[in-house]
Amino acid sequence: MVARILDPAQQLVIATHNAGKLREISALLAPYGMSCVSAGALGLDEPEETGTTFVENALLKAHAAAKASGLPALADDSGLSVTALGGRPGVYTADWAERQWFEGEPGRDWFMAMGKVEGLLCQAGPTVDRSCWFTSVLAIAWPDGGEAVYDGRIDGTFTWPPRGIMGFGYDPAFVPAGSALTFAELPLEEKQRISHRADAFAKLVAAQFGNDRAAP
Ligand code: IMP
Repeated sequence: MVARILDPAQQLVIATHNAGKLREISALLAPYGMSCVSAGALGLDEPEETGTTFVENALLKAHAAAKASGLPALADDSGLSVTALGGRPGVYTADWAERQWFEGEPGRDWFMAMGKVEGLLCQAGPTVDRSCWFTSVLAIAWPDGGEAVYDGRIDGTFTWPPRGIMGFGYDPAFVPAGSALTFAELPLEEKQRISHRADAFAKLVAAQFGNDRAAP
């Protein structure tokens, strides 16, 4: 199959409603001169994530945005996998934060989600293996049905209590391998250098932008 390449003259939809992901993806794309617009700014609906793998969900989100907007769309599906929990929460990472707020209003509580992971690790005892990893799958979909997929990973350990105020989601409980600081304690530039999303993005850049459009 011939690889599809983004047209720099065309706007790219960043198919996420997650403010943290939008910030990171926009910053990663900035040096490549693509004009971007978020799914939120276009008023696109957030599709239900019915897939059972990161690839399925990333493609589902990218195709939904490409179809609704008539533009190529880039989506990320990502999550935290904990070795001692058999890879959970994995593709259900966001679901572990689902909670009913006042008057049954649904919302996400990341501290509760991190607490669930910690609770399960504690049940396994003080010597439990705390190794874990983040996965990011970036999918690009075109309105005519074309698609491309890139995956990334970063290994680390799950720490408790959570530390730091930067980043989003599970960042305060994740210490990347080789660091003493959590993702939420690291400056964004440092997270962007090593993260699962940056790993996937480097593959996307190599395939889509090549060396002639390499970032400084
Ligand atoms: P989804 O891709 O929309 O299913 O959501 C994945 C969830 O994984 C996010 O909402 C975050 O909670 C978590 N996650 C993914 N990437 C990161 C990250 O870079 N830092 C912290 N949490 C993340």
